[in-house]
Amino acid sequence: MALITKAVRGTRDVLPHESQALRYIERTALELAQAYGYAELRTPVFEHTELFERGMGDTTDVVQKEMYTFFDKGGRSVTLRPEGTAGAARACLEHGLLAEALPCKVSYVLRCYRYEKPQAGRYREFSQFGVECFGAATPAADAELIALAAETLATLSVTDTRVEINSIGCPECRKRYLDALRAHFAQRQSELCETCQGRLEKNPMRILDCKSPVCAGIATEAPTVLEYICDACAEHFDGVKRYLDAIALPYEINPRIVRGLDYYTRTVFEILSEFPEAKGLVLAGGGRYDGLVEELGGQHTPSLGFGMGIERVWLQMQALQAPLPEKHLCELYIAAMNSDALQRAAQLAQELRASGWHVEYDIVGRSLKAQMKYADKIHAKNTVVLGEDELKNQRAKLKDMKTGAEELMTLPDFADEFERLMLRRVERDILEGFGDDVTPFPQP
Ligand code: ATP
Ligand code: MG
Repeated sequence: MALITKAVRGTRDVLPHESQALRYIERTALELAQAYGYAELRTPVFEHTELFERGMGDTTDVVQKEMYTFFDKGGRSVTLRPEGTAGAARACLEHGLLAEALPCKVSYVLRCYRYEKPQAGRYREFSQFGVECFGAATPAADAELIALAAETLATLSVTDTRVEINSIGCPECRKRYLDALRAHFAQRQSELCETCQGRLEKNPMRILDCKSPVCAGIATEAPTVLEYICDACAEHFDGVKRYLDAIALPYEINPRIVRGLDYYTRTVFEILSEFPEAKGLVLAGGGRYDGLVEELGGQHTPSLGFGMGIERVWLQMQALQAPLPEKHLCELYIAAMNSDALQRAAQLAQELRASGWHVEYDIVGRSLKAQMKYADKIHAKNTVVLGEDELKNQRAKLKDMKTGAEELMTLPDFADEFERLMLRRVERDILEGFGDDVTPFPQP
């Protein structure tokens, strides 16, 4: 039978064997962010289009080429969010969070949408973990932000990465830099792609991250921004480096990072993969955007944040065979030999599940032999068989499928006895330095 349709190009289904790992990544990231004082914020998937045009800048690749923009049935132009910062700033402003004690620190895991050419690590629907810190101007804030991004990867055992930082100055010192860039690109104007010809006047910095090979070639000889930043910006950048040194976080200075969004000021950073197959892929990127909140109608609020591509992190974790928490397995499979026993199985399962145990029994009408085969297939940790004798004596044998050890249980107290038995096993595993079914976490 032919399927009537398949998933849209650039989107991916997360199947059960993968979703547990992704949930682990997301939870780990959000929990670590919590330790840095960030609380989770959830914003809508779509926003008014002008939010991104204003918030990201209308000369950016994302706004010019990659947004999923459409008119809703009321004739309003709305856009599926391509990133998290603009929506977070809008929400914090709208709900008055920036009028309270600052800094205001928010974190999120969200789906983003960009119409890009799909390839490994690049999708049209993808997930970002990100944080935004509103109302913090000092270099310590920049260093703390970079530390959180790096620490998130380290906690997930994502090794083989490199932190690169740069300063792109403030709007004041950038004027001189933009003039120098214009002069550079004007010499070879006719060779630039059409989009970049349009950017030459308005925002020549955008030409630096154009993906066209010709523009990229011309960009390699362009002057770099660090030569142009003013004393105050240079001092801020020195401060960031000092704090990073103080917390012993290795970094490299890459004067060519400009970041894809218009609203960045001063510090920008990227964490790149150095893993052979993924070399150069950007796992996380972010920086300071002191002008954004004002751009959206708020007070001047120095702010900063980063976004991390969850699928890219997961790709690298798979390639590195990074450890993951133990797979969720069925704790107990209750096999039943007749319909009375099946009813008793249903009751027991109900009771145990209410206490959080993963319990299964036969709901497809299999023979006993087939039930046991199925229990084996799902790697049930324990099994119990209920039949006429068990119901008559109100006793049944629980079998540990790994060791083969059997334990006589009384049916009326089954749930309590099961709970105690499982606790004893956890204690035993801890005393023995964990059973071999637990994937150990690496030592820091
Ligand atoms: P790139 O240069 O790779 O296009 P970007 O500068 O457009 O990245 P950001 O806007 O900074 O990316 O987004 C933050 C992070 O989100 C990126 O570092 C990356 O890990 C991830 N990301 C961005 N676009 C995609 C995509 N299309 N598919 C998967 N992940 C993405
Ligand atoms: Mg991009």
